[in-house]
Amino acid sequence: RRKTVLELGAGIGRFTAEIAKSAEKVIAVDFMESFLNKNREDNGHLGNIEFVAADVTKLEQPEESLDLIFSNWLLMYLDDDEVQSLFRKQLGWLKPGGYLFLRESCHQQSGDKMRRMNPTQYRDPEKYEAFYSSVTQPCDSDNIYGYDLVVSKSVETYVKLKNNQNQVLWLVQKVKKDKASNQGYKSFQEFLDSKQYSLRSILLYERIFGYTFVSTGGIETTKEFVQMLNLKPGQKVLDVGGGIGGGAIYMSKNFGVKVTSVDLSSNMTQIGRQRAKEAGVTSDQVQFEVADATKREYPDESFDVVYSRDTILHIADKLALFKMFYSFLRPGGKLLISDYCCSPEEHSEQFKAYVKQRGYILLSPEAYGKTLEQAGFVNVRAEDRSKQFADILKTEIAKTESSKEKFIADFDENGYNSIVNGWKEKLGRVEMGDQRWGLFYAEKPC
Ligand code: SAM
Repeated sequence: RRKTVLELGAGIGRFTAEIAKSAEKVIAVDFMESFLNKNREDNGHLGNIEFVAADVTKLEQPEESLDLIFSNWLLMYLDDDEVQSLFRKQLGWLKPGGYLFLRESCHQQSGDKMRRMNPTQYRDPEKYEAFYSSVTQPCDSDNIYGYDLVVSKSVETYVKLKNNQNQVLWLVQKVKKDKASNQGYKSFQEFLDSKQYSLRSILLYERIFGYTFVSTGGIETTKEFVQMLNLKPGQKVLDVGGGIGGGAIYMSKNFGVKVTSVDLSSNMTQIGRQRAKEAGVTSDQVQFEVADATKREYPDESFDVVYSRDTILHIADKLALFKMFYSFLRPGGKLLISDYCCSPEEHSEQFKAYVKQRGYILLSPEAYGKTLEQAGFVNVRAEDRSKQFADILKTEIAKTESSKEKFIADFDENGYNSIVNGWKEKLGRVEMGDQRWGLFYAEKPC
């Protein structure tokens, strides 16, 4: 429910009426007067729509006046300069916290009739992402305004009915950004994609964790933990920080559940989609979304299970996140999380430096369990699995060392050394007691 909504390229009103039903005021803009007249004829009676005949590239709106700007199949008719200029102006028009929604046709389908008939720009999705993420606006001495991604994904109906992945939607939010946060990157997403989860790092991690996995124990811990969920065919699972798809692919193939895998890293999601294809898993069985789990909302009671492996270490406000999980779960729904944790005591300088450099926010297993209870969960089990963690690290190191030559042939010596040394340091931190690993199971009351 958004108060003031600007709909750009409103046309004959395929969306205008829907938007008007849940908004206080809609400003519907289109430069085709005949379209706008039809829209007025059909929807004018709703009483909260202002119809504006204007070219969106010349449009002006008061600063910070809008809660949502909606456009469907609009930017593909504008050239690159016009799109960038519009993103810039829209950032000014939105209130802080306001949203921008867009849906575009991306990539060109070969033999596409439309392409031959008009100058439509079928851009790669990355191009839209580069445009909106480069736009900023001054705020105060320490902060700027910019867009942060909430979710981007292929439009489900097109995937289901036409097997077409190229209809892409984005929801981004105008946020205040601390100039000093994200270690110099424009957003947390860019920090993840450029630093810890560059394409090369992900493939190196996958080599040690095992095919399709970027978390402790790979398929072994996945089998062990998933059996605690008693999954039934047709159930809906949300995999938070789903990475390159290991958990989602395993659950959908072995239990017939439908999984939504959300991950903020577009690199992870790109590899995940590829791995799902290799496994013969359709987008109906596992749907990948590039989304920020702290912002992406789903309807209440829409999942049977929320599952998350070694991800929430990246998220500061765990209570707010657990409250969201609670609302997404149906009564009796189950939650299963594994995560990096820390000891409750004072930590060594070395450990503090590691946590800071990674940008992790860690709790002790006990505090983690308490936070789940605070969010309303019952039957909470919070287990310190550090012993299992150390054993797994030793196995992963031994396995990697025994296939050193192949590893170096597939990557290079630097890659091999960074992984093996990184694992040995991790084992050292666990043996010192600073670093812990927790397993958490909880239920939403029936
Ligand atoms: N769960 C996967 C697995 O078991 O293989 C991947 C684990 S990986 C260690 C952590 C994942 O969390 C990364 O893929 C990262 O991009 C994702 N992540 C971090 N912050 C996130 C956020 N705010 N929203 C969604 N995903 C996030």
